[in-house]
Amino acid sequence: MKKFFAYFIPILLAYAVGFLGSYIQGEALVEWYPFLVKSPYSPPAIAFPIAWSILYLLIGISAGTMLAKGDVSVLRLWILQLLLNFLWSVMFFALRSPFLGLLCILALDVAVFAYIVYTAGRRPAAAWLFVPYMLWLIFATYLNGYIYINNQKSRSAVAMTISSPKFSLPILPYSADALEPIMSKETIDYHYGKHFKTYIDNTNRLIAGTPYEAMTLEEIVENSDGVLFNNAAQSLNHQIYFEGITPVQKVIPERLRKRIIHDFGSIDNFNKQFIDTATGLFGSGWVWLAEDSNGKLSILPTKDADNPIRHELNPLMCIDVWEHAYYLDYKNRRADFVKEYMNLIDWDKALARSKYN
Ligand code: MN
Repeated sequence: MKKFFAYFIPILLAYAVGFLGSYIQGEALVEWYPFLVKSPYSPPAIAFPIAWSILYLLIGISAGTMLAKGDVSVLRLWILQLLLNFLWSVMFFALRSPFLGLLCILALDVAVFAYIVYTAGRRPAAAWLFVPYMLWLIFATYLNGYIYINNQKSRSAVAMTISSPKFSLPILPYSADALEPIMSKETIDYHYGKHFKTYIDNTNRLIAGTPYEAMTLEEIVENSDGVLFNNAAQSLNHQIYFEGITPVQKVIPERLRKRIIHDFGSIDNFNKQFIDTATGLFGSGWVWLAEDSNGKLSILPTKDADNPIRHELNPLMCIDVWEHAYYLDYKNRRADFVKEYMNLIDWDKALARSKYN
């Protein structure tokens, strides 16, 4: 029974520290960590919890091997390394400081190495069980060091792009309250002033010091993926969206009107199809009026940040059906928002975007 606890307690402690650490990582893992410049040898995110669950088991058994033989001399060293391990999560993720994280992990390297040296002479098995941990820590030290060094540079790059960012928030061609009551000033303040702005800021930050810096927003959307694609495409989508609405009721210019009637049968048909598609799109996304390379018009629903240019189509007009676009004014009534939105469409802008006008 004593033997059971000798193994059980250190394993439990190691996992408790692991869980507490991952709890601390929380928001930083979503808001901060994905935007850091990382080593090309950085493993996929899923590798970390897998590696750590194996390592915590090994280091727990290692301490158990000592304790089961009644040797408690090394316990202090073992607890010290566990505390440093936890402290690293605090420094790196909670304080978001790769520098303090690096200091912590270097101290951890020393403590773990000391543990191995100390146990090697007493219980070689305990020392061997720590070897994978030591190797992983050396790798983790490199990853942390890489992040520290390379994000110093990008911090100054970010500071530069703040003074001269590549992309900037387009100025609204109407005042923030001009679209009321269909779209409130509050919605514009949040949707344009915060959501749209964040996508542009993130895009600027992500392209700093990369080949994407030389590209137009459209080229980035066509050639990127992952976090950069999401932010660049959302920047482009919102640009088309906010430029494409107006407080002044517009009639559809004759040339575009003819094309809509030709491709949809009638204006009413088009309106109905557009409204139904926008109301029915499940989850977050956009609905577009787009044209193909022959000028044929179609209604295209897209998921999340996707844009027609990824489907070889040219976007003319769109509606944002992410909840942030209508929730303040319409709560869950997306259908009402979509119907009202039809009165805001700037048809002159839609025609101006066409390559066939
Ligand atoms: Mn939006």
